[in-house]
Amino acid sequence: MSRTVRICAAALLLALLAPRPSAASARGPDVRYDVLLLPDDGIARVTIDLEGEGLPNALRLRIDPLRHMNFTGDGETEMEKGRLVWTVPPSGGKLRYDVKIDHDRNGPGKDAAITDTWALFRGEDLVPSMGVDTPEDVEATAKIAMHVPDGWSIVAPWKRLDGDTFEIEQAHRFFDRPTGWVLTGKLGVTREKIAGVRLAIANPWGHDLHRFDILALLRWTLDDLVDVFPEDHPKSFVIVGAADPMWRGGLSGPNSLYLHADRPLIQRDGTSPILHELVHSFMHARAGDDGDWIVEGIAEYYSLALLRRSRTISKRRYERSLGKLRDKSEDVEDVLVERADAAIAARGAIILAELDEKIREATDGRKNLDDVTRVLQEERVPVTTKRFREIATEVSGLDLRSFFDERLGR
Ligand SMILES: [Zn+2]
Repeated sequence: MSRTVRICAAALLLALLAPRPSAASARGPDVRYDVLLLPDDGIARVTIDLEGEGLPNALRLRIDPLRHMNFTGDGETEMEKGRLVWTVPPSGGKLRYDVKIDHDRNGPGKDAAITDTWALFRGEDLVPSMGVDTPEDVEATAKIAMHVPDGWSIVAPWKRLDGDTFEIEQAHRFFDRPTGWVLTGKLGVTREKIAGVRLAIANPWGHDLHRFDILALLRWTLDDLVDVFPEDHPKSFVIVGAADPMWRGGLSGPNSLYLHADRPLIQRDGTSPILHELVHSFMHARAGDDGDWIVEGIAEYYSLALLRRSRTISKRRYERSLGKLRDKSEDVEDVLVERADAAIAARGAIILAELDEKIREATDGRKNLDDVTRVLQEERVPVTTKRFREIATEVSGLDLRSFFDERLGR
């Protein structure tokens, strides 16, 4: 399954290296995003409004020219190497543009859509990722005001301030922009707090996402997922779904995930698409060059392990499921590739299951794969095979050279 937790590695590293300013010493700009949804035109009209202190000199938006258009702004706007560069006036100002909401994903279906009664998209669609030319690293204060048709409600992974205005706060970022899955329209919404996580599960009227089935599954599995990432996991989480014309799969995002309404919660091979995406969101890991088998393998392994730990499935069925993943990955020759497909994810899950068992045996059950996964999550750097091997070795205290050499072929 695809993974869409996209974190700009360079920006992340900068944010990690740069000391985070104290609130007193470096008051940053006020950023306000205004979004006017126009279903008749199929677009969102977006305004980025900057004012206050510590303004950036320019924003460099990585736009999709087929979706982001009609740029106008105070100060100058120009295209430069495929990016829209907005030179921000010294006293601040506004940048305006239109976003075409409908977007086809590879394969049939859309990963963003707008209709007369609902719209489903990502914050990243509204405000694409950007480089920020800033004289000093200061922490921005950001808000988004959503202007939707009368009678529409909004479910988004952002903190509601008042009405349809939300606070935008991205951890580890100086210049916050809206990210994650958003559903607006005439909606069915189920809210509940499970394992300390405030959940909102939503679908457009008439699209049966099976919200209570999802709720039930999470009531007996979320605890165990929170246990894997006890320190740093989302405190609130949004699950949105819709039927066709949306894409028939699951996609994770920051503090949120999308699932097609017709997807089963548990598949015939015993893995769970919704838990797979949930693990991606909780782990928010990004693969380095040869680390996608680890990122996808972890999501696939835990989507099965969480069912086992919660006794949703028996030990016997868990083992049979591992057998099915083994069959599925039979023809995989090399897992060290840039993008892991389903077969490589399955092989990854098998390797991780074996690693988990090896670590448990060697430490008399004191350590397991969770300890490795947790370190990967906390490091917040792109996951590579080399680093994964180092962490597994440190955590287990074992010599794992032959274990990995046999399975990775190098
Ligand atoms: Zn995945």
